[in-house]
Amino acid sequence: MSARLRDTLPESRSGETLDPQDWDDIRAQGHRMLDDMFDYAADIRARPVWQPIPDDVRARFRSNLPHQPSDLGEVYREFADFILPYATGNVHPGFMGWVHGGGTAVGMLAEMLAAGLNANLGGRDHIPIEVERQIVEWTRQLFNFPDGASGIFVTGTSMANLMAVLVARTAALGRSVRQRGIHDEGARLIAYTSTAAHGCISKAMDIGGFGSNALRSIAIDRTHRIDVAALRERIAEDRNAGLKPFLVVGSAGTVDIGAIDDLAALSALCREEELWFHVDGAYGALGVLSPALAPRLAGLENADSIALDFHKWGQVPYDAGFLIVRDGERHRDTFAAPAAYLRRETRGLAANSPWPCDLGPDLSRGFRALKTWFTLKTYGTEKLGAVITRTCALAAYLEARILAEPRLELLAPVQLNIVCFRYRADDADRVNGDIVIDIQESGIAAPSTTILDGELAIRAAIVNHRTDTCDIDALIAAVLDFGAQRSPADDGVVPKIEGAPPLAM
Ligand SMILES: *Cc1c(COP(=O)(O)O)cnc(C)c1O
Repeated sequence: MSARLRDTLPESRSGETLDPQDWDDIRAQGHRMLDDMFDYAADIRARPVWQPIPDDVRARFRSNLPHQPSDLGEVYREFADFILPYATGNVHPGFMGWVHGGGTAVGMLAEMLAAGLNANLGGRDHIPIEVERQIVEWTRQLFNFPDGASGIFVTGTSMANLMAVLVARTAALGRSVRQRGIHDEGARLIAYTSTAAHGCISKAMDIGGFGSNALRSIAIDRTHRIDVAALRERIAEDRNAGLKPFLVVGSAGTVDIGAIDDLAALSALCREEELWFHVDGAYGALGVLSPALAPRLAGLENADSIALDFHKWGQVPYDAGFLIVRDGERHRDTFAAPAAYLRRETRGLAANSPWPCDLGPDLSRGFRALKTWFTLKTYGTEKLGAVITRTCALAAYLEARILAEPRLELLAPVQLNIVCFRYRADDADRVNGDIVIDIQESGIAAPSTTILDGELAIRAAIVNHRTDTCDIDALIAAVLDFGAQRSPADDGVVPKIEGAPPLAM
């Protein structure tokens, strides 16, 4: 250290550390925060699901960089007044838009503990790495993968799918692709998925350097499952054209309507054709925890890799995505890279190789495993499975209510926990789009929309463990209310209703 820098050292360092001057004070503040967050979850039904952000609140987050300190209590008050009330709402049982997990108090506490340890799970020999390996082992057991399978926490399934595409690439072209690049041979690689697959698969092909045109979107049947015969034909066609099929991505729970591809048929086809079989099981893969759903996921155990999110049906707080690969060697082949400063030893802190940084693009990584470990241990898989089963039962309840209501129309078969429907009206796309926004702004519930066969659908994805029949009833009532307001019969606009009596509104 230069003398000049050293001269800046104060006599006493107590004023320079970031630790509090008074631990009793921060202890009291911390307990208050904890109590507030328990109250937030316990009384969540008293709040709107979501509310629009007032301009002055948004403007508060466009301020200048703070050079001077502020009192923690004041910063916390800002959180309580201007951040907490304007969250997405996925903690609320009325949140049904998109596939979001609800989180738990247990997960929240585990996040606090993880932050306290401030562990970096890129590698090295410390017990947090063993906790992550424990989750890898539990996930391996969950999907009946062999010994030698490997797994890693990532942000989410978008990242896990991208990594799976890269592992499949390495399996197809060999390790040397990492030095050579994909070049001409790689330019001929073709992947396959269905038209109902999540957009992140196409994005993964793009980021992976293959281009999204190298992804074939195969047609789906009425229940949104991939047409396996059409897939087989397309593979043959591509082979005849001199292309090199390498990967099939099946869906276990499509994001639109919760369809599960015929995973057994896909795995058989992939074995026959010698293709990598990856499953996007973002939320659906954890359906194996539900005895009622597990049989529908048959074939998942034959996948070469599975991407899933513990932060959706697993209710672990964000984020907790995961990738598991049947052949751990392929996984390491894709991501392990030597670096002098990451030298491995057989003892000391640099032991315990391979490290998570050998299994993905990240070096520094947080302790996502801890909240997942707490969740799995505290609740057990039977309870978590029962929650998953219940969200599907609630979807069936919503379906029944729609079928019993002549003003509503079901737009897709309910297969899992997602229900797509709409209010019958002239100009139905506009009316239903407005209804969804009206409901979101009302704070009663938060459905989202999707497009099915060119028609706009109200989409309710029931993922949150807190959701109950009263929340479903509130959604239905709100759709009918706002529907009547948006297409009033006295406007001369009479909703078209086949086989139902005219409405009194
Ligand atoms: C949510 C979801 C994704 C994306 O996962 P993230 O965790 O949001 O990155 C991909 N596929 C499906 C089917 C999903 O439901």
